Amino acid sequence: MSVKNYPWKSKALNIFAPHPDQVDRFCEFVKTDLVKDGIDTIMMIVRYNYMFTSHPECRGNFPLSYDDVQKMVAVCKECGINLIPNMNLMGHQTVQDYKDPDGLLRGHPDFSETPIDEEPEYCYSLCPSHPEILGIVTDLMDELIDAFKPTMFHMGMDEIFYIGMCDRCKGKDPADLLAGWINKLADHLLAKGITPMMWGDRLLDSAKLGYGPWDASQNGTAPAIDKIRKEIIITDWHYHNWHWFPSPEIFADAGLKVYLCPFNVAPNAKLFLDYAKEHDKGNILGIMETTWVPVKWFMDGMEGKELDDEKWYKGGTPHIVHCYKWLFRDGELKRPKELEEEDD
Ligand SMILES: [Zn+2]
Repeated sequence: MSVKNYPWKSKALNIFAPHPDQVDRFCEFVKTDLVKDGIDTIMMIVRYNYMFTSHPECRGNFPLSYDDVQKMVAVCKECGINLIPNMNLMGHQTVQDYKDPDGLLRGHPDFSETPIDEEPEYCYSLCPSHPEILGIVTDLMDELIDAFKPTMFHMGMDEIFYIGMCDRCKGKDPADLLAGWINKLADHLLAKGITPMMWGDRLLDSAKLGYGPWDASQNGTAPAIDKIRKEIIITDWHYHNWHWFPSPEIFADAGLKVYLCPFNVAPNAKLFLDYAKEHDKGNILGIMETTWVPVKWFMDGMEGKELDDEKWYKGGTPHIVHCYKWLFRDGELKRPKELEEEDD
């Protein structure tokens, strides 16, 4: 079984932006591998890794230059691939270890929803009510738009655990806070003819679905699903060994189009995609494989190389590669032995 057994048109890949020294290799990888696999969309997690000039204090640790981006834009254009930049514009305001503030909060710690000197349990979030935040965030978005010239822009919005807590936000409805912020950013994009995208987890109700706090919201944000702009495309991610995946239908009922996003266990991906095919309400644009490892590792894994780094999730990379190959090539379907017990 491969993606050709599913009826949806788009084959998409979600990857981290390459470090600047990997840009040329990535461009080759697009031309030699991704095109052959029929990938038509790349959603690139840039976060703050760009050499912003409007607010250089917001640059991440491995910022891409304008010229780096132009190389990738040119290759994707040549290959007929839609290249979509991503910034995390509410949750996930940390770098990898979840404790260190990422670009925007390093430059502007007062934009944090929780005190920046209190280490967060997971990741810092932005305060949507700060009077200066919208101007700076839209400046940063505009720089990425200028570099990528995209037709779509992914705003992040996953795993927001801190909302409605600061003195400005306290007492406000979390769903209103979230939807209000999303719509401001979406309007900014729509005015430029760019389609906004975001992750779907904060729009799903954990209490109704029985999903945990990552796949769905436990802090009152789910009603935002009926308050956000209908032009927003949802990337609907679920990675577990489940037999019930109602979210694509929930988004369909809310008038929202989705990408289905699997990850590292091909049989789990199959459960999700088979369920979605059986319950398809016509709102599914395609499949977007998520990778969540440095793109260098993903490319190494695709080339069958030994991974030489010893960082987070090194062991996961071969499984991600396996899932990709099952989806987009005629790769075999098997559950990695070390993940046999993993189920929630
Ligand atoms: Zn706030």
